[in-house]
Amino acid sequence: MGLISCPECRHQVSDKAATCPGCGHPLKPEEAQLRAYAWRAYEYKSKVTIFGLPLIHIVSGPSWAGGGLKPAKGIIAIGNVAIGVFALGGVALGGVALGGIGMGIIGLGGLALGLFVALGGGALGYIAIGGLAVGVYSVGGLSIGLHTIYNDPEFLEKIRHLFGFF
Ligand SMILES: [Zn+2]
Repeated sequence: MGLISCPECRHQVSDKAATCPGCGHPLKPEEAQLRAYAWRAYEYKSKVTIFGLPLIHIVSGPSWAGGGLKPAKGIIAIGNVAIGVFALGGVALGGVALGGIGMGIIGLGGLALGLFVALGGGALGYIAIGGLAVGVYSVGGLSIGLHTIYNDPEFLEKIRHLFGFF
């Protein structure tokens, strides 16, 4: 067993130790990495509020480090769980939701649920676009809907009307 000197407090410590017993300084790369992640667990809430919600709320970091599953709630919400007018996160709920699972008026994500537009690997919405799309108007590898590109020859025309800006 070799001895190394801690870069922080100069203690002689075992080269097998993950952290310095003297000052707790990480000695192994894995340990240093864990610390780096832990440091990344933080929360930011803007002082400006609209309708009682912070304009921006960010909760970041792995769940075990205190960030994680605590939802971010704000006009703009960013977090593993995000709830907001604009929500960005692993699970996002909002007017415009962007995430692994996105649910909103407009939902974008691996699994997207949208009241109006859903865009994602699995999409469920009034207008659904995705690998598997289910909606009134749906476009996708497998589309299930009243109007799909396969069963409605005027499909693209109707979509244009819905958006009204093409
Ligand atoms: Zn030390």
